[in-house]
Amino acid sequence: MDKQHMKFATKAIHAGQEPDPTTGAVMTPIYQTSTYWQASPGDHKGYEYSRGTNPTRKALEDCLAALENAKYGLAFSSGMGATDAVLRLLQPGDEVITGNDLYGGSYRIFTKVYAKYGIKFHFLDLSKPENILPHINDKTKLIWIETPTNPTMRIIDIEGVAKISKAHKLILAVDNTFASPYLQNPMDQGADIVMHSVTKYIGGHSDVVMGALLVNDDQLYKELWFVYNACGATPGPQDAFLVLRGIKTLHLRMKAHCENGEKVAQYLKNHPKIDKIYWPGFEDHPNHDIAKKQMRGFGGMVSITLKDADLAETFRVASSFKVFTLAESLGGVESLINHPVSMTHGSIPKEEREKVGVTDNLLRLSVGVEDIDDLLADLEQALA
Ligand SMILES: *Cc1c(COP(=O)(O)O)cnc(C)c1O
Repeated sequence: MDKQHMKFATKAIHAGQEPDPTTGAVMTPIYQTSTYWQASPGDHKGYEYSRGTNPTRKALEDCLAALENAKYGLAFSSGMGATDAVLRLLQPGDEVITGNDLYGGSYRIFTKVYAKYGIKFHFLDLSKPENILPHINDKTKLIWIETPTNPTMRIIDIEGVAKISKAHKLILAVDNTFASPYLQNPMDQGADIVMHSVTKYIGGHSDVVMGALLVNDDQLYKELWFVYNACGATPGPQDAFLVLRGIKTLHLRMKAHCENGEKVAQYLKNHPKIDKIYWPGFEDHPNHDIAKKQMRGFGGMVSITLKDADLAETFRVASSFKVFTLAESLGGVESLINHPVSMTHGSIPKEEREKVGVTDNLLRLSVGVEDIDDLLADLEQALA
């Protein structure tokens, strides 16, 4: 039986992994080697140099590909390294269409790194896929979307965007970090590239920084593999091992994140200290129907704005948690709280971020898998 095509939980535990051929080790060994023996020049077992290929990393890449229903996986030394590799497919003069509600680091690499090389980015409200149409011209090459968006949890219709992308022969890349492959598989809805910050839910334990790209198309894979090897932002085998281990519980963790996320969202919805709440599971969330259509659950990310709170009061609340940890990042087993304006989204200008609701009084919760009673009690005392 082909483990690459089984059900999610089986793939999370087995895909890409076979007992080690030399020893029978059940867990994929950490191949801590930069280079590989050749019997005569060119006569090797498929591995030459670990920037390009490493067996531990290969097992992880095959596992990630299986989880996203993709043919190929490429692991990078960070999510930004993965994003960078996609942008390197472009030429000066090319244009990219993307959302106006993006991870701050994506906005930064677009505007501060690649704009300098003559690539033009259009930041649009993608709540309606047809908003893209007037911005497509013969220079357009790539559509880059993130859904749910970070931090305001808007949902973009992947299938709707993919139809437009295909009709105009563009590449559609989807940053699937917030959903994780457990909740959403953009490949099945027509994406050409799925990108992950593996650092978040996939790794799941806040102990590794890593990224990944998943693709189906042979030619696109070849081009991305060329960048991966030529530019060299590839992770080492220890990190690949840790992520392989993390993935074995991805389905269990995601179930718990979804359950706790829902309970936290319900608790905060009518809390007197909360002004707005962003969680796609609410029926009155503006994109709830699309979320229901393309996701298998609503996840553990919940953002809130504090009623009548200035920056000082927001800082006071953010610093008064005892179980939630005030820190950047998300998706680990432990609950985190983040102040996007001063932390993850600091690189986005005030006028730009405020347009999409990233205001001074916004806090983002990554709801972990601790006991829900302790999480709710912590929220209660911090908001008191
Ligand atoms: C964290 C994150 C990234 C960047 O990934 P790194 O692993 O930190 O480089 C990209 N997109 C989203 C949505 C993220 O949350």
